[in-house]
Amino acid sequence: MKNNDKVTISFHGAAGEVTGSRHLLETGDQSLLLDCGMFQGHRTDADAKNRTFRFPPASVDAVILSHAHIDHCGLLPLLYKNGCDAPIYATPATAEITGIMLADSARLQEGDAQYYNKIHAAENLTIEPLYEEEDAKLALAHMKPLEYGADFAPIPGVKAKLLNAGHVLGSAMTQLDIETPAGGRRLLYTGDLGRAETLLLDDPVAPRGVDYLVIESTYGDRNHEPLADAEGQLTEVIKKAIAQRGKIIIPSFALERTQEIIFILDKLRRSGAALDIPVYVDSPMAISLTEIFNKHREEFCFDAKFRDYARMDGDPFGFDYIRYLRTKEESQTLNNKNGPMIIISASGMCEGGRVLHHLRNNIEKENNTILLVGYQAQGTLGRKLQDGLPKVKIFGIEHEVGATIETMHTFSSHAGKDDLLAFIKAASPARGVFLVHGDPEARAALAAALETEGIKNVKCPALGEKFELN
Ligand SMILES: [Zn+2]
Repeated sequence: MKNNDKVTISFHGAAGEVTGSRHLLETGDQSLLLDCGMFQGHRTDADAKNRTFRFPPASVDAVILSHAHIDHCGLLPLLYKNGCDAPIYATPATAEITGIMLADSARLQEGDAQYYNKIHAAENLTIEPLYEEEDAKLALAHMKPLEYGADFAPIPGVKAKLLNAGHVLGSAMTQLDIETPAGGRRLLYTGDLGRAETLLLDDPVAPRGVDYLVIESTYGDRNHEPLADAEGQLTEVIKKAIAQRGKIIIPSFALERTQEIIFILDKLRRSGAALDIPVYVDSPMAISLTEIFNKHREEFCFDAKFRDYARMDGDPFGFDYIRYLRTKEESQTLNNKNGPMIIISASGMCEGGRVLHHLRNNIEKENNTILLVGYQAQGTLGRKLQDGLPKVKIFGIEHEVGATIETMHTFSSHAGKDDLLAFIKAASPARGVFLVHGDPEARAALAAALETEGIKNVKCPALGEKFELN
């Protein structure tokens, strides 16, 4: 770079909201994109934001992907469809999981567009899918897997390293050592940051010498219930189901949450707590992801306690007794089986997927339990159940809610407020903190807490806002 070139960072998503993470570092004529996530939420609103990149895709020289959640990787196919030809750096697990997530996302986009065009045919309204499976394949062909801790140079004048973020398998913080006209500057982008206390993954550790910190703020205003309570809470639900000979239906996110639940069930089973009831994992995606977890389980991104357990147990994800159901026919056989049993199925907020069939078949019976184990967004079927509505519609047909609805608030893959504060203090960024990936209230609460702690130069960037790093 030339002496008068500026180094800047600009925020093109997840700025005052939680989805659409895209942050662009520019040095002279080079640009490095940190994540390329999809905006999620209300269809027309999100669609418009997803279709416009705020920078020319072809001008991107390198991409670093923090993890495989769609709000971080989901627009990669569109970026490459629109002319980007840059390498994508990510950990090997993220690269593998992203392959599964993007193929699924492309099929959803295609299915959505087909459905919309069919029901609006009379009005002559049509939409194009954001992208198709071919575009996802094009993006994935640019993937360059890199181990945690390996040095690489994504663009001239920038050295980089991926560090464990503890959020989901493969998740990484990006440490960038940037040559600026004013000297070397270290920037750390956390991506999504895990909790200090986790079930499967090692907790994230802040590196030293950070000048600029770009950190998520999803739970900037609150803490989670202790994870240690999860085993006891799940035990209670299972005991009740055994007594009532009922089915426990767990709508679960396929990535991380499903594996966490399976791991707890495995521990309970091993402890001999007489909780030995059939467990079905009914989600092809969750099965593929669990296989990836199992393959990587010896690696250091996993918590040492989990690795010890896995070595002692030999089968921490229960492949030898959990029934993993891949086909529709296998899934349908569960309708005719009597409880007690546990069915873990996607999606986590009951918005689609096979869990809807299990809910339709079981929600009216009083001896069944629906166990919610994740965040339920406003307007979703999961939220309606959580809020205690007496009747809900599934596939357009109204059902009385006879089953017991239970929620466990213990699970979360994100750092809570105290975790975020402790991490920021440990990183002690010398020149500034940028708060991203948080709703306005959560982000403002974290900014206020940082001010109280005497941490200066805290910025809450607006969409498109650009800052000079000097
Ligand atoms: Zn995430």
